[in-house]
Amino acid sequence: MQPIEGRFKALSGNDIQIHLADLKTAETYLHKGYVNFDIVPHSPMSITADQRSKAYAMIHDIGDYIGYDDEDMKITLKEKFRSVVGCQPFSLSDCHKDTATAFISYLVEYCFYYGIPFFEKDMIDTIDANRWQYLCLIHKRCAICGRTDTVEINHVDTVGNGNNRNHIDHRKHRIEALCHTHHMEFHQIGAKTFAEKYHMHGVKLKDEDVVKLGLMSWKQIREFDEQYKDEKLERGN
Ligand SMILES: [Zn+2]
Repeated sequence: MQPIEGRFKALSGNDIQIHLADLKTAETYLHKGYVNFDIVPHSPMSITADQRSKAYAMIHDIGDYIGYDDEDMKITLKEKFRSVVGCQPFSLSDCHKDTATAFISYLVEYCFYYGIPFFEKDMIDTIDANRWQYLCLIHKRCAICGRTDTVEINHVDTVGNGNNRNHIDHRKHRIEALCHTHHMEFHQIGAKTFAEKYHMHGVKLKDEDVVKLGLMSWKQIREFDEQYKDEKLERGN
């Protein structure tokens, strides 16, 4: 059973007032007829209520997609995670918060890898922003809203237009995956306002990734690398 986290508010005789972090779960228990609860102090190093609800939300979304119920999905995903990182069995009710962070990141990566839809808005901050943008580019999802149709690659830095555009070393520029709507918004409000609004600044990709995305061919990459080598030699002379 999922514990409910709360913050102490007031004590009056034997009665304690607690501000609940997650009212929905508490209501579910009350509706089921539970009236006795254990109150234990929260250790600062333990999983937080926010982490727990995010982990459960991801488990639910994955289970929904695969056709597993939440409990079976939780067992399966925890086992898969443990086989990857090699950690001891853990519980989402009281595990270390670093384990929770790693498990949530694993669930996000799992969804990207298998193309499983999940509610992105809540998950953006759960993993490193650069990693998030990288995953969005590679798996062609809008970095802001998660849409997988109409995904376009946006150059955060101005890269010129016309013929210049065909002679760009994409590895040198920050890029991000955006759906058509968010791409339009980027150009309407400008790079700076867009970055401030969504906390997305684009990422630079490596050789194999720009090729994978069809932004450059290996031939173009070799040509640019040759050009840099020549320029370096010229500067050296
Ligand atoms: Zn979007």
